[in-house]
Amino acid sequence: MEDRQKVLEALREELIERVDRYKVHKLRLENPLDRDMEEQAIELENEEVIDALEEEAEEELRQVVHALERIEEGAGEQCERCGEGIDPRRLEAIPYATLCIDCAELEGRAQA
Ligand SMILES: [Zn+2]
Repeated sequence: MEDRQKVLEALREELIERVDRYKVHKLRLENPLDRDMEEQAIELENEEVIDALEEEAEEELRQVVHALERIEEGAGEQCERCGEGIDPRRLEAIPYATLCIDCAELEGRAQA
């Protein structure tokens, strides 16, 4: 369990850094110095990709932070929906899972 907390904390740091990098990258894209139309079109496409990546990282970060809160409350290994224990193998595969496999499926989410 302590290990899982460490894994999550490392993941949180990594995600924060990743989101920062995307933001910096986007700032640079938003300053189209003297690019021609074709280059600007390519940059626009890149920005959409980066937006999607940033959103993904932010969503994962939210889950990681949430899972850490659950651990601090002493409920890190309990499903937050039904209260049953979460399969340790599931926690190993998805350290930020806060739902058991059944509830995750019920919620119809691919996420934790
Ligand atoms: Zn459950």
